[in-house]
Amino acid sequence: MKDKSMVMRIGVCLLSVGLVFAISSYAGRRPPYETVHDMDPALLPPVITPEDDPAKAPSDAIVLFDGKDKTLKAEWVTGRDNPPKWKVDTEKGYMEIVKKGGGIRTKKSFGNCQLHIEWASPKPPTGKSQGRGNSGIYFMGKYEVQILDSYTEDNYKDNRTYADGQAAALYGQYPPIVNACRKPGEWQTYDISFLAPKFDKDGKLVRRARVTVWHNGLTVQNNVEYWGPSGHKKKNPQYRRHEEKLPISLQDHGNPVRFRNIWIRELPEQ
Ligand code: MG
Repeated sequence: MKDKSMVMRIGVCLLSVGLVFAISSYAGRRPPYETVHDMDPALLPPVITPEDDPAKAPSDAIVLFDGKDKTLKAEWVTGRDNPPKWKVDTEKGYMEIVKKGGGIRTKKSFGNCQLHIEWASPKPPTGKSQGRGNSGIYFMGKYEVQILDSYTEDNYKDNRTYADGQAAALYGQYPPIVNACRKPGEWQTYDISFLAPKFDKDGKLVRRARVTVWHNGLTVQNNVEYWGPSGHKKKNPQYRRHEEKLPISLQDHGNPVRFRNIWIRELPEQ
């Protein structure tokens, strides 16, 4: 009898501690009361000018490629800091991966951001599975959103790869919710909201990287966490501390994928 009441007392005690912890952590996420409905102009967000056409960069964006820079030298370098060798068609406003040209990366570094990018897989298509219109966007040079020709007319009988390697997959980690691919040669859009990972002063991971991806306007990754840096057949990728901002890379996987209208908005911590 005595034992039972002791167990009950301990149980109630643990419950109370849990409740206090839950309330205090919830309260910690709320904005401070003193700023609720505060008219202080310092609290107002910056005013920007949006565009009707999503291909056009809004006023607070950095344009990474608008089809006019023949050499790509203004915003891009190769992985080894050399001038890019990719082909640029300034009349049609696109750049194209050149075989053995190597990947390219932005000269500027980015952490949290919104990226708009348009791409087209080769027409007519050649190759299959991962050899068909493969490229990719590597946020911070590490976290990939896959680019691939995943267009299918016959529910994947005509064109198939593994689910976590198709277009808009977080490569090797998450397939997209749906396959929203357009035909080879047709322009497609990715709009991506990326949240950089966070490390504490000892290098311990305190927040994983996250993305939301819209493929041709449809949500295909909804606030999904990267398990770690992307890689081929990596079953247990590990985060390692890195800078808060790093360049974004575009992958050369040996296929002549085209890109146009690339712009980016840096996003603050919220
Ligand atoms: Mg790829």
